Amino acid sequence: MGAGFGGIGLAATLLREDPAADLLVIERADDVGGTWRDNTYPGCACDVPSALYSYSFAPDPNWRYAYGKQSEIHSYLRRVADETGVTSRTVTGCDLIEAQWDAGVRQWRVRTGLGSLTATVLIAATGALSAPKLPEVSGVDSFTGAAFHSATWDHGFDLTGKRVAVIGTGASAIQFVPEIVDQVEHLTLFQRTASWVLPKHDRLVSRFERTLFRTLPVTQKLVRGVVYAQKEGYVVGMAHQLWLLRLFQRRAEAYLRAQVPDDGLRAALTPTFTITCKRILLSNDWLRTLTRPDVSVVASGLTAVTETGVVDDAGNEYPVDAIIFATGFTPTEPPVARHIRGADGRTLAEHWTGSPSAHLGTTVHGFPNLFLMYGPNTNLGHSSIVYMLESQAAYIADALRVMRAERAATVEVTEDAQQRYNDGLDPQLARTVWNAGGCDSWYLDSSGRNSVMWPTFTWRFRRRTKRFDPENYRLTAAGEGSRDTAGAEARA
Ligand SMILES: Cc1cc2nc3c(=O)[nH]c(=O)nc-3n(C[C@H](O)[C@H](O)[C@H](O)COP(=O)(O)OP(=O)(O)OC[C@H]3O[C@@H](n4cnc5c(N)ncnc54)[C@H](O)[C@@H]3O)c2cc1C
Repeated sequence: MGAGFGGIGLAATLLREDPAADLLVIERADDVGGTWRDNTYPGCACDVPSALYSYSFAPDPNWRYAYGKQSEIHSYLRRVADETGVTSRTVTGCDLIEAQWDAGVRQWRVRTGLGSLTATVLIAATGALSAPKLPEVSGVDSFTGAAFHSATWDHGFDLTGKRVAVIGTGASAIQFVPEIVDQVEHLTLFQRTASWVLPKHDRLVSRFERTLFRTLPVTQKLVRGVVYAQKEGYVVGMAHQLWLLRLFQRRAEAYLRAQVPDDGLRAALTPTFTITCKRILLSNDWLRTLTRPDVSVVASGLTAVTETGVVDDAGNEYPVDAIIFATGFTPTEPPVARHIRGADGRTLAEHWTGSPSAHLGTTVHGFPNLFLMYGPNTNLGHSSIVYMLESQAAYIADALRVMRAERAATVEVTEDAQQRYNDGLDPQLARTVWNAGGCDSWYLDSSGRNSVMWPTFTWRFRRRTKRFDPENYRLTAAGEGSRDTAGAEARA
């Protein structure tokens, strides 16, 4: 389920192994691409260089910018889906309505908007950042102007000469605000929390480099390796030696001083938490844009929307023609969790009760033959999610190999293994900047647990997911009861 980086990458991996694999991708939208199909707001681009933010098995020597723009990344995903045969296995416009584990026949019964099907194995690659989050404030429906989320940008609405309120100051807002500011009459930015910002060292990739990458692919691999190693360097500070972040924060402080000369505004834009506690924002024009006379920064959240404007925490009303919500997504409450019912008839959401957990971010006790991509604790604040998704794809492909070799009808992670895994994660997370850096971020769920981030170097995740670990699973052969560690014995 889902044809973004996760679903396409996994399906491509499985088809590479077996072009005749009995595999179907269902995608609710009318095209593949996930994040990069949906987020069409002005200025949308990745903040990890494309040399790394792309599949290792499908390097593209033709990136025009070091950091790919949305349309380029979307085209790339379409191309990879076509070339790997994934497109022809994908049914678009097909929304999952419900998937229920049928213990009698040991299959998933899947109900979609286009009809029903059964599946031996179900893989949810529905994305952690695919459900836009809107603030729960009164009056949004009564607003008579235009109101939309950055992930569902209303391109039919002309912002020219309009008074616009932007709610939120995260990774999307910093990309689109500088792009629309020349067009609007006045922009009022509602900032509940200031974020650390660093310059984005983006640039056009020269024709020479592109030719080099095409003719000598190893050179692009080298660039990928260097970017990867640089990014991993951040983990030392974020997860192990937090004091190192102070040096890094000084750079951001100096950048803020250079970009925002006004003391009052600079104070409002100075975060109160350690750098990287929230995702670092990369932009060359965000801070400067906020110093413009036609931009106001309201250091407050939004408490209500009226017919003609928005109201801040202090009760002040700002008349506007349009409201753009840059309020992020719902990674700790993914909608798909409400639609997948496990062995006991309860949904994943009912199991998780607002605090998702899994084994290796991929499997959940009580949900046989279900695999998650970009599941709990697989997000990163510093590097490419595609690296994590490829790790999970390799793990799932190996799990399917073991199932075939074992003639297993089901695999299900044991409760004990899942618990042990999470007991190992939590103390590591407690030491990281995301938990101890003094911020409240979308990495922490409603129970206060960090159920979003991977706590250490990404190569450690790669190492743990390199091979399926049958010793942590209960495998059931067709027509038999279950047996633990059967796979491990067979492999040995
Ligand atoms: C604006 C933005 C910028 C980002 N920039 C970066 C970056 O620079 N670097 C980085 O590493 N990560 C970035 N990310 C994170 C990004 O989401 C991941 O890198 C990656 O694209 C996730 O891929 P995915 O396939 O797991 O999820 P998605 O791309 O979200 O794809 C999920 C797919 O599942 C489909 N789907 C969902 N529910 C259903 C259903 N019920 N039935 C059928 N289909 C369904 C969706 O329509 C979608 O196509 C960014 C995210 C956003 C929103």
